Amino acid sequence: MLLIRGIAVSPGIVIGRAFLLGEVEQHVPHRSIQPADLPVELGRLDAALSAAIDDLVALRDRTNTQLGSEAAKIFEFHIGLLKDRTLITPMRKRIEQQLVNAEVAVAEQFKQLVGQFQAMGNEMFRQKANDVIDLDRRVLGKLMGESEGRLSKLAEPVIIVAHELTPSQTAGMDRKKVLGFATDLGGRTSHTSIVARALDIPAVVGCQKLSHSIEDGDLLIVDGDTGVVVAKPDENQVSQYRLQQEKYSEFRASLRELCKLPAETTDGTRIRLLGNIEFPHEVESVLANGGDGVGLYRTEFLFLTAAHEPSEEDHYRAYAKTIELLGGKPLTIRTLDLGADKYTQQRAIEPERNPFLGLRSIRYCLQNKGIFKTQLRAIMRASVHGPVKVMFPLVSTVMELREAKLILRDVIEELDEEGIPCRHDVPIGIMVEVPSAALMARTLAAESAFFSIGTNDLIQYTLAVDRGNEKVAHLYTGASPAVLQLVKSVLRAGRRARIDVSICGEIAGEALYTMLLIGLGFRSLSLVPSQIPLIKRVIRAVDIANCERLARKVGSFDSERQVLNYLRDELRKVDPGNIGGWLAE
Ligand code: PEP
Ligand code: MG
Repeated sequence: MLLIRGIAVSPGIVIGRAFLLGEVEQHVPHRSIQPADLPVELGRLDAALSAAIDDLVALRDRTNTQLGSEAAKIFEFHIGLLKDRTLITPMRKRIEQQLVNAEVAVAEQFKQLVGQFQAMGNEMFRQKANDVIDLDRRVLGKLMGESEGRLSKLAEPVIIVAHELTPSQTAGMDRKKVLGFATDLGGRTSHTSIVARALDIPAVVGCQKLSHSIEDGDLLIVDGDTGVVVAKPDENQVSQYRLQQEKYSEFRASLRELCKLPAETTDGTRIRLLGNIEFPHEVESVLANGGDGVGLYRTEFLFLTAAHEPSEEDHYRAYAKTIELLGGKPLTIRTLDLGADKYTQQRAIEPERNPFLGLRSIRYCLQNKGIFKTQLRAIMRASVHGPVKVMFPLVSTVMELREAKLILRDVIEELDEEGIPCRHDVPIGIMVEVPSAALMARTLAAESAFFSIGTNDLIQYTLAVDRGNEKVAHLYTGASPAVLQLVKSVLRAGRRARIDVSICGEIAGEALYTMLLIGLGFRSLSLVPSQIPLIKRVIRAVDIANCERLARKVGSFDSERQVLNYLRDELRKVDPGNIGGWLAE
């Protein structure tokens, strides 16, 4: 038995067999095989080698045409090596004698060869070592690229274990095949974790060396409520967790009856609960959970799950569909928040060194106006079908807001000239998620129709803590007095300018923060749809005066520990219905 404590990111308990999803750069999955599986495993090796050779032949021919035969020679060396029996035979022997998977045999054999070249002392041979590393990645890539295909063919659903998962890998998971997942890296508000919550896939991240410590097929328990992962549990542990699973299902069922009731405090104040979505079909979940509309549509997921850049029609269809599903309820469309951990890094020729501080969100759109305008045209065309708002992400200066608005105005003029109908009065607001925007909130409020505070980024940029890095996850918290001061000043600026200030960071969906957010003055929260009933339950148990008293008290604390402890105690007082047992922080 092995117990690992990670970070709970998506609630629920799952018990099942591990499926190791390998990544070439990070970790080679280790699997023991049965003698009967030998032909399959040797076949995998042969197929990977010949696929790699095919790629190299194509590369050689292309280089030959474009740069001449001298430049193409290097590929001859690569192709020759992949056909060399002195390299391939030991790989096969390793599989046969040690009964290991092909990935292990390939990685070990190439490692040995790299060592031999590096030890030769001659610069030319040292260079060859780099070529071998390249070949190693190419062949492993072929083997591991298959693992996603293998996943789709599984008969039984599994628990995915990976060093890291991208948001698009997570978004592409088939709920029928995937019970849950656990990763070595990650943080609570990384986009992978956000997608897990959106899809209701129980998950734990930040498990450090989990993917190195288990084998494919090991029995696993993933507890997305407490962040515990148990590998090879004993029978006693399995039955304890099964009991927990039942209790959790009962708890979720008890929340379901709240879906139809209003989110109203005991003294009659109505709080608007909106959903955060990544895909149009999630509107169904927003409505089923009793949401009042969509406060954040993360449109960049259109890019993340598509093989090519979405066209104006692709955008339009997605927005029109979302509006239709909402049936008259409001929709806030956030323009593309590409960059950082989403899309562009994976496809960039040269990845950025500091992507979260790099060409991201509105900055990316302002430098890629074609992509931006395509999206804006689609939003404006869809605007005639229902109550739509446009929201720009990661605005950090007023000039960015002005430039984005000018582009939007251009788009409207173009549509008018083309005789394409669109609304001219679509409210344009911004996400406040960078400290500079929070500090300049009064100026920005004068030019925005609304604000939505994005605490996921506001926390990371205020505290200088990467939201996706498990090593500093203990420093990442919305209970930070510094973050709360910024939030308060944004609310103040919004009140003064008489614009609506909502919040769409993950803390809006955490019961621990509900009283505080109401006490600070929020009357509109946007959150992961599945959490709407839970937050409603807290709202229906509290009154405004009590929340305001709590917010004042929180304002007197100088450490996040004090804030967290106090919020936990206060929540337990108002809600004896055992919400406390399912808290995130
Ligand atoms: C945020 O930063 O709080 C937010 C809601 O946006 P995202 O999580 O997509 O960065
Ligand atoms: Mg953000």
